[in-house]
Amino acid sequence: MELNNKHQIEELTKDPVIVNEVKRLIHIAPVEKILNIARAHSIWPLGFGLACCAIEALMGANGPRYDLSRFGYEVLRSSPRQADVMVVAGTITNKSAPFVVRLYEQMPEPKWVIAVGSCAISGGPFVDSYYVVPGAKELIPVDVFVPGCPPRPEAVIDGFLMLKKKILDPKVVTS
Ligand code: SF4
Repeated sequence: MELNNKHQIEELTKDPVIVNEVKRLIHIAPVEKILNIARAHSIWPLGFGLACCAIEALMGANGPRYDLSRFGYEVLRSSPRQADVMVVAGTITNKSAPFVVRLYEQMPEPKWVIAVGSCAISGGPFVDSYYVVPGAKELIPVDVFVPGCPPRPEAVIDGFLMLKKKILDPKVVTS
């Protein structure tokens, strides 16, 4: 059938068989949902570290043995303007805290934060020091916490996969 005017199309779409077929075959998702699928499968972390966790956990996860690139998350960016996720790995001191905040503010929206290791979560073994910030959450919003001193590389990868779930479905609460 040729659909050459509006009336014919309207008649056609009232046909329950065609309406059901269109519903079955055509799925229209909100653009944000489609973008989130792309974001969740290609997270670009900001490449910076504060202490041992950056080497032990983050670099370990990104190396060939644990191969974070399997999931599409290995492209560490040197510029915060090109990064999606800040991985806070290491001890935050009062001196480094303003730089953590500034780098976070320079990242474009949407952006996420993973706190890796007990120092980034709560100050770790240095929490009683007069010069240590008791966790990244005191400075910036944190989406995923990966405990350990340092965490295993598998735990860091698990943190990324939890973030993936949260990006795909922002209602998911991660911890
Ligand atoms: S949590 Fe442990 S391994 Fe990680 S930065 Fe702190 S002291 Fe180092």
